[in-house]
Amino acid sequence: MTDYKFEGWLGHSPESINGKMEWGSFEPKKWTEDDVDIEISHCGICGSDLHMLRSGWAPTPYPCCVGHEIVGKAVRVGKNVKDISVGDRVGVGAQARSCLQPDCPECSTGRENYCARSNVGTYGSIYPNDEGKSYGGYANYNRTNGHFVVKIPEGLPSEDAAPMLCGGITVYAPLKDNGCGPGKTVGIVGVGGLGHFGVLFAKALGAEKVIGISRKASKKDEVLKLGADQYIATDDDEGWAKNNARSIDLIISTVSSDKMPLQQYLMLLKVNGTYIQVGAPDGGNLPPINAFSLLMSGIKIGGSGIGSPSEIRQMLELAVEKKVKPWVQKRPLKDANQAIVDMEAGNARYRYVLVNEKHAKL
Ligand code: ZN
Ligand code: ZN
Repeated sequence: MTDYKFEGWLGHSPESINGKMEWGSFEPKKWTEDDVDIEISHCGICGSDLHMLRSGWAPTPYPCCVGHEIVGKAVRVGKNVKDISVGDRVGVGAQARSCLQPDCPECSTGRENYCARSNVGTYGSIYPNDEGKSYGGYANYNRTNGHFVVKIPEGLPSEDAAPMLCGGITVYAPLKDNGCGPGKTVGIVGVGGLGHFGVLFAKALGAEKVIGISRKASKKDEVLKLGADQYIATDDDEGWAKNNARSIDLIISTVSSDKMPLQQYLMLLKVNGTYIQVGAPDGGNLPPINAFSLLMSGIKIGGSGIGSPSEIRQMLELAVEKKVKPWVQKRPLKDANQAIVDMEAGNARYRYVLVNEKHAKL
């Protein structure tokens, strides 16, 4: 039995994106001994939250409480959860469950984020076995499968750890998987919430040169301050694609607009370079690609989606070791509606983190 109630900001329709979420109680998934209940202290605001509130990717099963960059205190821990104790500071990212079967090609090899059998998101998903719906972190409490709950290492402030759990891992995993490191030049396209983590983690992984690529020249100083070595403004630097052709080993694109100049991004790659897409436009379509641009420089195009629990742990350790310091702005949970309106307007520099006034100091 629990002596706490699950309450949070609920979206009841696509209108909720306009600052119309309503505070209310919800029924969390049915408790099992594999689960952990978290008293939420912090939750980052991710671009996915906005897509979900407005039914941007698919019809959202309202009511929906979004938020999948959750940090807080474990207050109830199922018997089957071995590595977490009541009182631990823990976090949850965008994934709340996968099939976890030994014969699953993904789950059995530490790639739970790509499980095709039973992939449950931290919010807006339906659990198998009639266990109910998943609700996210703009709330007092969260209940998630213990396999997807990670301990937050000491030395990492909760407001910094929270946005790493989705925003951070989404760029860390493809950087790591595609050889970001000493001697490499890495380009980060779109320096917003995800992209700012791209710059920070590319540096932390030891890339020789990091190039921030965004639209406006006015962002240049900020991006260099983040740690980038060079900046390209695609709206304002004339001839940018030609002038910087074949200069980058690995590009991570966080852009989620189908109007992006993809063909020109690809011109920036060295021979055998790699382009990885992590931003997802509403509707999902990318601009068309000319086959010759692939053939003539032997480049590869790929994609990447979040990361596994073990990759999240690795990332958090690296963040402690290299003192990765994201740029976050704390907002009180009670002002969540205003915060999503500000986020939608593109005002976040670079991540808003909601702070639950009942469970943490603002
Ligand atoms: Zn699986
Ligand atoms: Zn996210």
